[in-house]
Amino acid sequence: MYVGRFAPTTSGPLHLGSLVAALASYLDSRAHHGTWLLRLDDIDEPRVSVSAENIALTTLKTHGMHWDGVISRQTDHIHKYEEAVAQLQASQQTFYCTCSRSMLRGKSTYPGYCRLKSEQPEEPASIRVRAPQSTLSFTDRIQGRIAGKLSDVGGDFVIMRKERIASYPLAVVVDDDATGITHVVRGSDLLENTFAQLYLIQQLGLAEPRYAHIPILNQRDEIKLSKRDNARMIDNSTPTLNLISSLHMLGMEPPAKLTKPQALLEWGVAHWDIANVPKQRAVSDFVSI
Ligand code: GLU
Ligand code: ZN
Repeated sequence: MYVGRFAPTTSGPLHLGSLVAALASYLDSRAHHGTWLLRLDDIDEPRVSVSAENIALTTLKTHGMHWDGVISRQTDHIHKYEEAVAQLQASQQTFYCTCSRSMLRGKSTYPGYCRLKSEQPEEPASIRVRAPQSTLSFTDRIQGRIAGKLSDVGGDFVIMRKERIASYPLAVVVDDDATGITHVVRGSDLLENTFAQLYLIQQLGLAEPRYAHIPILNQRDEIKLSKRDNARMIDNSTPTLNLISSLHMLGMEPPAKLTKPQALLEWGVAHWDIANVPKQRAVSDFVSI
């Protein structure tokens, strides 16, 4: 049983890094005769736009990556996020945080100022989970054994923002559970956040998917490609070239005679072997055992 997904955030057009992530999860799903779902991560309402959503859909279609079933959206799962927060609150693992941005500026780990606030304050507050001291670990299909402590990657983390918007780690574990995802293939920029996700999965009693984090690197200086970093946007008029360079980034060498997206994808599915994806350490703070 294999259910994979691509989950773009629809607050800007897709960049080359997201195309590589989409392609990797597509190829892995298809090579396993699995299902490949599309979810639009549209919860960040002030930043999300319909035009970005349309561009993302057009990009996938132009590159021949057709998803199965209906598109799901984070905004369909808001009540599930609320239920998950209530469950964590009931087991007394959370606290309200009223720290301002300026109080936390420059601090890489949450300093614990509000740890003892269990009553909801009058003012708007975010909700954080108390990070345990224990070591969390998982075996990534590309990166190998990954172990670390939440206290080394930010500490007590936010599950619900002040504006009552679920945070990314809470939303993603609830979304993946709601859609029965068994395999997550995504960019290594999310490797570090996986600890918070694993912890939430354990605390909420959800099934843990298998993870594979593909290196998302700006070839030249390994700067993380993200929408904020002026990453190169995808030119939808050159899908063949885009797919060839994306296949290269996944360690594959398609034959030059393939000049159509569909043919490249078919070749990619037939030749997909996750062991060929280069393992590159994206986040230096990790202990890779
Ligand atoms: N929406 C997230 C992003 O675009 C990805 C979610 C995920 O793959 O876990 O960064
Ligand atoms: Zn606080």
